[in-house]
Amino acid sequence: MTTAVADSPSTPLLVTEGRVLDVATGTYSGATRVLVEDGRITSVGGEEVRGPEGVEVLDAGGRTVMPGLVDAHVHVTAATADLFAQAEWAPSYVTAHATQILAGMLERGFTSVRDVGGADHGLAAAVEEGLLRGPRLFFGGKALSQTGGHGDGRPPGRSSHVGTPCGAGIGAVVDGPEAFRLAAREQLRTGAHHIKIMLSGGVASPTDRIDSTQSSEAEIRAVVEEATAQNRYVTGHAYTSRSVERALRLGVRCIEHGNLVDDACLELFLQHGAFLVPTLVTYQHLASEGAEHGLPADSVAKVASVLEAGLDTVDRATRAGVDVVLGTDLLGGMHRHQSEEIALRAQVQTPAQVLASATTTAARLLQREGEIGVLAPGAYGDLLVVEGDPLADVTVLARPEETLRAVVKDGRVVHRGG
Ligand code: ZN
Ligand code: ZN
Repeated sequence: MTTAVADSPSTPLLVTEGRVLDVATGTYSGATRVLVEDGRITSVGGEEVRGPEGVEVLDAGGRTVMPGLVDAHVHVTAATADLFAQAEWAPSYVTAHATQILAGMLERGFTSVRDVGGADHGLAAAVEEGLLRGPRLFFGGKALSQTGGHGDGRPPGRSSHVGTPCGAGIGAVVDGPEAFRLAAREQLRTGAHHIKIMLSGGVASPTDRIDSTQSSEAEIRAVVEEATAQNRYVTGHAYTSRSVERALRLGVRCIEHGNLVDDACLELFLQHGAFLVPTLVTYQHLASEGAEHGLPADSVAKVASVLEAGLDTVDRATRAGVDVVLGTDLLGGMHRHQSEEIALRAQVQTPAQVLASATTTAARLLQREGEIGVLAPGAYGDLLVVEGDPLADVTVLARPEETLRAVVKDGRVVHRGG
């Protein structure tokens, strides 16, 4: 897909009267202006920064100007909390839902998202070409699961895979190192930025246990080898120390959730330079309204086992110096709660730590340091104009409908609030 359909030459954008927030140092830099040309930031400074003739001006009116946010754990195709029922929907219908979900994320100030199951090269291309309004989309394609694992939606009474088409689903069920290897190559062939595998049981799957380990060592090794060969990386869904320990030892670079890991396991993150992407807000809302959005009763019962531990893990991981990244993992009608993750993190992290987790640290995870999560020459022109002082009270970002004045992506104003 190389035809840029909706792309017209972009007018340079000059943001003026801003209070530029430097998320790397957790300070206001003193800069007031940001110039974006051809989608990239070319200059950050004071009155001396001027655009060319005909530049579009966005007056920030003395408000905070900061990099667009990153959510590193989303499923933009998750239109319902019953993902296994959704696997039987028409792909076109799922895509129609995804357009709404993507637009919502952008309007909450998320200018980049990492999809860890469901989004594919077609959706990413549609966003990039301007056919769809949405954040920059880092996709992994299908999440890989063993039979009976977190990606296997069959109830125990069904033995056949027939009747569970994978077209609209977020995962693929494979067994054996060669099948995992082939599945990984299939995702990488389509341009996947990472490969997601299931390493332990999960909440939304009908037959697995949270405390299980999933994917054999040989299967994990095969996927790591394929991702590494293409300078990509493997991220894994895991809750327990047992499942995380073996994954990090085998070269998995990032762990999703991690609610039940102990302090010894957190040390391993430091040793291996691995990232942790907790997803607190989803458990909160799966517990309170999951059933109403389609989460089966057996899954609702599993939520309680990980909900309480999640916040404590973020606290311990942050104190240990682990690279913690913002993620949400919301499904269906619960996507509207995305920004609340920021307020949950703020219970145990400083505002600067929360901001880093959604900008600079996230950029390192995405292998896009200097390009996203930062306002500096060379970076994408992705920025927010925010009412309030996120460095003093980061929860202003948890209420985007009240505080977000503008969202800029690629140097274009894509949303105006207030
Ligand atoms: Zn997961
Ligand atoms: Zn997820």
